[in-house]
Amino acid sequence: MNPALTKFGDRMSHLTGVRAIMKDIKETLQAGIGQEYINLSPGNPVILPEVEKLWRDYTEELLASEDYGKVVCRYGDSQGYEPLVDAVVTDFNRRYGLSLTHRNVLITPGSQALYFYATNAFGGYTSSGALKEIVLPLSPDYTGYGGLTLTPEALFAYKPALDINAASHSFKYRPDFSQLKITENTGCVLFSRPCNPTGNVLTDEEVKKIADLAAPYDVPVLIDSAYGPPFPALNFTEMTPIFGGNVLHCMSLSKAGLPGERIGIAIGDAQLIGVLESFQTNMCIHSARYGQAIAARAIETGALADIATSVIRPYYQNKFTVVETSIEQYMPKDLPWLLHRGEGAIFAWLWFQDLPITDWELYQELKKVGVIVVPGSSFFPGLREDWQHKQQCIRISLTATDEEIETGMQRLAKVIQQVYQLKGDRNNAKPLTRSLSGDSESIGNRSASGDRQIMGG
Ligand code: PLP
Repeated sequence: MNPALTKFGDRMSHLTGVRAIMKDIKETLQAGIGQEYINLSPGNPVILPEVEKLWRDYTEELLASEDYGKVVCRYGDSQGYEPLVDAVVTDFNRRYGLSLTHRNVLITPGSQALYFYATNAFGGYTSSGALKEIVLPLSPDYTGYGGLTLTPEALFAYKPALDINAASHSFKYRPDFSQLKITENTGCVLFSRPCNPTGNVLTDEEVKKIADLAAPYDVPVLIDSAYGPPFPALNFTEMTPIFGGNVLHCMSLSKAGLPGERIGIAIGDAQLIGVLESFQTNMCIHSARYGQAIAARAIETGALADIATSVIRPYYQNKFTVVETSIEQYMPKDLPWLLHRGEGAIFAWLWFQDLPITDWELYQELKKVGVIVVPGSSFFPGLREDWQHKQQCIRISLTATDEEIETGMQRLAKVIQQVYQLKGDRNNAKPLTRSLSGDSESIGNRSASGDRQIMGG
């Protein structure tokens, strides 16, 4: 059957950004059964035994409690399971000296759903026909922002300023306030902090400046804290969560070990929360309650915040150190590679200045030596500007073992060396990737199937 699709239907039936690449990665892994791939692409968190135990213990407690029937056998409030809303209010008021009430909190089925509600409620065409923009103030940012809006022309991302330390091969993106425009045409502002894919953490001052620019126009600023404190607390640098006024503090329990349960939490102005709650009622009534019930217990007791800082954060912070040390050890010093400062999240982000091939071609070359990364160009949703930098970066997941990361970085360094060596041949008619694949056999590995079509696409 081939049904006619509406504009929205067409938009929503296509995958964007990294979701499209994940399909290629899945096929590569399936086609390569028996081949050993080092998969440095996943965004799925590692199952840490202590974290799994925490959720198992609270599940057992729930199963044994009188609440069980009320939790799973009945519909509930659209705003969220009351004990979870209460636990969030109490925890955040105590922790950050706030005066939240239950009207300031909304529980959603994952934070992706929350961004879908918000970008479509605040961004897009108003009833008078004006286009309200969804502003991403610092590109690159989370690939999932690319598929949210039903009005793609509403999405605008801004090129960052680059803070480079060439001597230490490191850099950091910063918002370029000389370019950033937040006006009466802005519908909402959205950014992740810590950032997926770069690990960047916008400073408290930068966040306040963005919120202040948006405040005069009553523009909500959504701070995607999927990796932020107090849980999962995947910040490796000091950062203060910002609340109040036009800020919607948005959280996810996915990186705190519950991605399967789909729990997002929004904290902010009661009127903003009310808009999102109605959106949610219309769309799915409410978020599933089993996950909310175990989350309520884990937040109430403080156990979730504790395990975040004692287990989750050190685990990924150590992984970043392994990436950093391996890259420093294997990557030739005379080549222009730059590692983004590892300030948080579960990824490392590498930029190869003047990379002679595209990030897609590099992704294909790395597959041939048994290493899978994510090409960086998927992480610039809404950035219309032609900018070579978009094709010069890769994302490396911190979810692999130390050995895998080390071997992966060793192979990456060899491939990168060859890529830059071939730079002189650029005017040669011979396709760069073909000559490279010949060379990469000498690194001792295989050739993946189907990569020609992907490179063309
Ligand atoms: N925001 C960021 C920055 C993410 O990295 C992710 C998932 O990886 C999400 C939002 C979506 O998370 P959730 O599982 O809460 O929908």
